[in-house]
Amino acid sequence: MYFYNSLKSTSKKKDTFPVSILKVARMGHPILKQVADVVPTDFFGTSQFQQLVEDMVETMEEYSGAGLAAPQVHESWQISVIEVKDNPRYPKANEIPLLVLVNPVITPLTTEKKLGWEGCLSLPGLRGAVPRFTKIHVKAQDQNGAPLDFVADGFKAIVIQHETDHLFGTVFIERMENMKLLYFEREWDRYSEQLPQIPVID
Ligand SMILES: [Zn+2]
Repeated sequence: MYFYNSLKSTSKKKDTFPVSILKVARMGHPILKQVADVVPTDFFGTSQFQQLVEDMVETMEEYSGAGLAAPQVHESWQISVIEVKDNPRYPKANEIPLLVLVNPVITPLTTEKKLGWEGCLSLPGLRGAVPRFTKIHVKAQDQNGAPLDFVADGFKAIVIQHETDHLFGTVFIERMENMKLLYFEREWDRYSEQLPQIPVID
């Protein structure tokens, strides 16, 4: 019923069953502009679904992403995976244990937005300051279909908003309000001490 035929190269990093590093779609690919399909109840528990989630986690870790959304690996489903642990791309971020969000619905709990620096595996080499809600309510399902219902703030809230945007066809630079705060990573590193103080947007 559901076919999972992404380009694969088998990895032997895990012993349990073969997992794969998936090819990441880059900005401009039509799949990153689509609204992804809601995962239906009967997709949970299938080997195709579990394999996709495992491969997404493996791909996120391989490329040191803080999160990855299914459309980024050419699968137009409302699934994202999030994890921050000793991440070289985000050395100062708090750890986030592995979180699988399926069919997420986000409600802001504040009107306050703050700017934070974001990058994306689909926009390699770029970093930009994006305004995001500082506190959100998240309803979703986990990878077994069980309901999730929680409040997130800080870096976790930023990552969840970034990944959920992917499920609705949006990449982070489309959220930027000041394009002068878009950098290549190398220049961002080189000139970071000269960067403007990131203001709070009320
Ligand atoms: Zn992204």
